[in-house]
Amino acid sequence: MSAPTPFTRTDAVGHYIQGEIVAGSSGRAQAVYNPSTGAVAREVVLATQGEVEAAIASAKAAFPKWADTPAVRRARILNNFLALLNEHRDELAAMITAEHGKVFTDAQGEVTRGIEIVEFACGIPQLMKGDYTEQVSTGIDNWTMRQALGVVAGITPFNFPVMVPCWMFPVAIACGNTFVLKPSERDPSPSLFMAELLKKAGLPDGVFNVVQGDKLAVDTLLNHPDVKAVSFVGSTPIAQYIYETGAHHGKRVQALGGAKNHMVVMPDADVDQVVDALIGAAYGSAGERCMAISVAVFVGDEIADKVVPKVAERARQLKIKDGMNLDAEMGPIVTAQARDRIEGYIAVGVEEGAELVVDGRGFRPAGLENGFWTGGTLFDRVTPEMRIYKEEIFGPVLGCVRVATFAEAVDLINAHEFGNGVACYTSDGNTAREFSRRIQVGMVGINVPIPVPMAWHGFGGWKKSLFGDMHAYGEEGVRFYTKQKSIMQRWPASIGKGAEFVMPTAK
Ligand code: NAD
Repeated sequence: MSAPTPFTRTDAVGHYIQGEIVAGSSGRAQAVYNPSTGAVAREVVLATQGEVEAAIASAKAAFPKWADTPAVRRARILNNFLALLNEHRDELAAMITAEHGKVFTDAQGEVTRGIEIVEFACGIPQLMKGDYTEQVSTGIDNWTMRQALGVVAGITPFNFPVMVPCWMFPVAIACGNTFVLKPSERDPSPSLFMAELLKKAGLPDGVFNVVQGDKLAVDTLLNHPDVKAVSFVGSTPIAQYIYETGAHHGKRVQALGGAKNHMVVMPDADVDQVVDALIGAAYGSAGERCMAISVAVFVGDEIADKVVPKVAERARQLKIKDGMNLDAEMGPIVTAQARDRIEGYIAVGVEEGAELVVDGRGFRPAGLENGFWTGGTLFDRVTPEMRIYKEEIFGPVLGCVRVATFAEAVDLINAHEFGNGVACYTSDGNTAREFSRRIQVGMVGINVPIPVPMAWHGFGGWKKSLFGDMHAYGEEGVRFYTKQKSIMQRWPASIGKGAEFVMPTAK
């Protein structure tokens, strides 16, 4: 692959309302950093309540016509968008690397996973098809249809600025809704770029809007009566707040929260495969993935003693560089504050008595000393009462827990408050089967470290990793963004004479 072109725009990132970029009038703005250098790259404006209300009003005005547009025509516009995403995928990936810090090849993977949801949403005519029963009673037929909700909102985290918005808006607008996106203020540029691509694809103005902002923007969306549903992805405390506040205001809410993902390593697992899996899943994207593996659970000391030294050796050799280097394996952390939080947790782990095998603190690549760097960290002999076991660190820190039996591993994971992703490495089919059945976690990988479900399967955790009933995208996504209506119909020729006072039954 030839060297990718870096993203270098420096103008302030604005909103996108009624098909136009809006500079913003709040006078409030926040820095967007280049995490590699630590320099301020751009600013992002933060919306006023009035600007969010203008975006909602624009979406509300666009809704009747868009919902009335035949699904196949909505799908054609999404098809045009799909072609544009494919054409501009490297530009989007470079934007992600510039503001998030993840390595370019990983950012390309993120864009691809987002594109897959758009591909799924292009099948909306089939997905929204209702069902029909002829002759439920003599001369009467009954059928169901699914209809759009109206204006829906999405609030997204920093760690997947393309993929997570794509979990939401392609499905929502394919279903006939209009959308207001509030992306993360830490990496806001890709959302505006996607808005421009949607316009080029032929999406009518007002169907997709973007408001940049903070809590004020989020609260305006949560409280507004014209917003019918809210999808959220982010940390658990905010997810719970979004769920409770949105539900209190009568909205549908799907709020995906934080995670602590375990990987169980059975004694019969292939050691080299386990080492590769742990290195990629713990340190890829600097551990800033909600599906990152942050805990390895070894069943027995023998397998732990084989794997831990190999992981340590690889963790020390990680190629940690500016993400635009094509051989980089790990980039910087998104902000200095996030890096300091991660390194703070490493200090807590040491205080708690975990064995610090590799210490990533203080890592600074030559020439980029002011960037937000930390190295890969590995702890062994972590125990369940430690904070570094219980809490989400969201950085390149892997903790190893040792247990004696498979049952102990399952009980340990089931007792954890999070239940997003989990993996089990084994060569035994029955162990794999038992694990899949007994584990209290929403997404399970058998010898697959990061089991992010495909576009048509739906994504979602259990317990404090998801508040709400339905998973993101896939058929559950279509259900979330539509409501079902049942119609029962007969024509005058089959209507008998006389009023009926008994509960109608099939005749
Ligand atoms: P975050 O919770 O800080 O922010 C998410 C969104 O909420 C952002 O748009 C932000 O502006 C907004 N927000 C922040 N504080 C708010 C407040 N007080 N009131 C209202 N809105 C507020 O999360 P983050 O740091 O951007 O992302 C990392 C977190 O997201 C991690 O916890 C990670 O596990 C989680 N995550 C979960 C999934 C999943 O599918 N379960 C996927 C990706 C990320």
